[in-house]
Amino acid sequence: MAIAPDEQELLELEAASATALLDRDDTEAADESLWQQDRATAMSDAQQLSERQKRFAAGPNYPVVFWLVLLHAGALAAPFFFSWEAFAVCIALYWLTGSVGVCLGFHRLLTHGAFKVHQPMRWLLAFIGGLSGEGSALEWVSNHRKHHAHSDHDGDPHSPHDGGLWSHMWWLGWTICGKEYETHVNRWAPDLAKDRVMRWIGYMFLPSHIASGLVLLAVGQLMGGPYMAASMLVWGLFVRLIIVLHVTWFVNSWSHMWGYRTYETADDSRNNWLVAILAFGEGWHNNHHAYPRMAAQGHKWWELDMTYSVIRLMKWTGLAWDVVDYKKIGDRNK
Ligand SMILES: [Zn+2]
Ligand SMILES: [Zn+2]
Repeated sequence: MAIAPDEQELLELEAASATALLDRDDTEAADESLWQQDRATAMSDAQQLSERQKRFAAGPNYPVVFWLVLLHAGALAAPFFFSWEAFAVCIALYWLTGSVGVCLGFHRLLTHGAFKVHQPMRWLLAFIGGLSGEGSALEWVSNHRKHHAHSDHDGDPHSPHDGGLWSHMWWLGWTICGKEYETHVNRWAPDLAKDRVMRWIGYMFLPSHIASGLVLLAVGQLMGGPYMAASMLVWGLFVRLIIVLHVTWFVNSWSHMWGYRTYETADDSRNNWLVAILAFGEGWHNNHHAYPRMAAQGHKWWELDMTYSVIRLMKWTGLAWDVVDYKKIGDRNK
């Protein structure tokens, strides 16, 4: 079966990644051993600047630091403004922005092309993903593709080899910006970088959060006055964003540190059941590193993957198609 051009482009991108084992079979064992040697050489080279050292040298990214401090500070008000209504909104938006926006949109669709949707749906999912507080799709996808290409190796933006806290959140405070940012996104996400609508959605990052805060305030005010308005803002925006952020970050930290390994990959990725539950299936991270394009990240019957359930629902309703459900390209025609 012919491979569509956009899919071909993605495959080439992943072929450049030493850990992209989607075509893995015995004949590729030699390639992998070369990669292992390369990795060992890089690890033993004390002179080489690590990703952490490079980012430190570039200095802090103050807007990102301010954003993350602001969200955490806002969430501290949670005990003083609790209501069950706002808690329910928090959980619903946690699922919508975390599972549908980040896991399904940013990650499985935009980063890995695990299924196809109409163009307006791509933009909608990028917008919902943007409401997770994790930056634009362009930036997220670039960082994540780079992570797959250099997992736990020099060049990985967030490997626990540079420290557990670094891999969890500290790396974000030093994210590259300015001219380097353009080079970064054009290198790792050329498909999104040339999409003007996708860039515009990225520029809407801060306005969309301010707008969502105002909507939550208005809804709360209408429901029960000033206390409910504050409750909706604190729980629906600040607490929810903190939950989504840390749960996503657990995938980068915990799922590269603790858990079991089903597949021998050239990185330290793990399947971590707690992260899988909290992150709607993304904690089966060793499965994902072994077969990055597979839409399903739970590979055993008991490895619950809530995000994949949404993809199946989208396929059933005709909203998604060409769902990648094979491990090797050779399996596709079976
Ligand atoms: Zn990973
Ligand atoms: Zn991935």
